[in-house]
Amino acid sequence: MTTHPSMKVPIARTGLTEDEIQSVLVPLRSGWLVQGPKVREFEQAWSSFTGADHSIAVTSCTSALHMSLAALGFGPGDEAIVPAFTWISTANVVEHLGGRVVFADIDLSTFNIDPAGIESLITPRTKAILPVHLFGLSADMHVINEIAQKNNLWVVEDAACGFGSTFHGRHVGTLGNTGCFSFHPRKAITTGEGGMITTNDSLLAESLRRLRDHGAAMSDLQRHLGPKPYLLADHPDAGYNQRMTDLQAALGVAQMHRADAIVAERRQLAERYDLAFSELNWLQTPKVSLGCSHGYQSYPCLFEPELLSTALKTSDQALLGQIKERRNAWMETLQQKGISTRPATHAVHMLSFYRDKYHLNPEQFPAAQAANDCSVSLPLFHGMSSEEQTYVIDIVRGSKA
Ligand SMILES: *Cc1c(COP(=O)(O)O)cnc(C)c1O
Repeated sequence: MTTHPSMKVPIARTGLTEDEIQSVLVPLRSGWLVQGPKVREFEQAWSSFTGADHSIAVTSCTSALHMSLAALGFGPGDEAIVPAFTWISTANVVEHLGGRVVFADIDLSTFNIDPAGIESLITPRTKAILPVHLFGLSADMHVINEIAQKNNLWVVEDAACGFGSTFHGRHVGTLGNTGCFSFHPRKAITTGEGGMITTNDSLLAESLRRLRDHGAAMSDLQRHLGPKPYLLADHPDAGYNQRMTDLQAALGVAQMHRADAIVAERRQLAERYDLAFSELNWLQTPKVSLGCSHGYQSYPCLFEPELLSTALKTSDQALLGQIKERRNAWMETLQQKGISTRPATHAVHMLSFYRDKYHLNPEQFPAAQAANDCSVSLPLFHGMSSEEQTYVIDIVRGSKA
């Protein structure tokens, strides 16, 4: 066991620099607080980083997903295919628009939607697939786009965790009809709350800009800079108010100045963990699919992967329960040492709203259930010190015989 003095290592820390914090004062002093010049600058920075033709800033990834489906024309009675293991809002936006969620199981080795299971879920009412690039690893977009094309479906990428994640050289969020990013503090770039929609479709971009801004044909900034600022815009749509503020965007712009360094630092931290845990057969570190680079929004591991795979193969719920118990006890051990861990995320089909509405059992999506019960994310964030990481490594390596 370790002889380190004890430390507290959080699961994530925002790590804003003093300059980034100061950047918020610019809109506060200029007096332009809501969507204005800073939002436009953040959108331009986002487009140049991701290579997307258009970026549209909104209030969260959840609103990005919601606006995307609404702009595409997704509506009551339509079905969307959603991985069973993701943050709940990927599914919620389908409900918000009166649609039906059709869950697909995941591939436990990537935590992402298993493309092999998608086609059998398609019905005449299916309109969209919502692949999630979970924890910063791209879903298999070749297969997903092929299925979508063949069946005339929209692809809305949940790229909430996808900052710095690429698929065959292209940044995630530029591979479907739209990509949706999150700036929640658990994500690599944060604006407190906040989100971004990326798309290469100009017409769709235009309707997304209107939809987030009360359906207005012209933004306030365009009107103020135009020849007749005293005339109000027309409203061709009954839109929403999903505008990002300029305070948030200023914070976003400031972080984008070191976007590449943030991605590089997170990859380095992950590499050090990968190496340090490579001989632990009871802990499976995150895989990187061929042709992908991982953005490491987090560092999701699987606990007792070999036993888990036996439990899955034999549908042994009792064994799964035992692994889960031991995982929880292990998380408690780390908590007592000051190290925060979390289940990687939740299986949405096991949450009571979806379980009850669609009469679902945990075992219906066994890989998602196994991920729910036996995953553990370890602390990883840019700004994590070498001492903090050494502490986590030593405690983890010494924590199980
Ligand atoms: C964080 C997250 C969301 C929600 O993002 P918000 O900006 O908080 O709305 C959605 N999907 C996934 C996969 C996430 O990780």
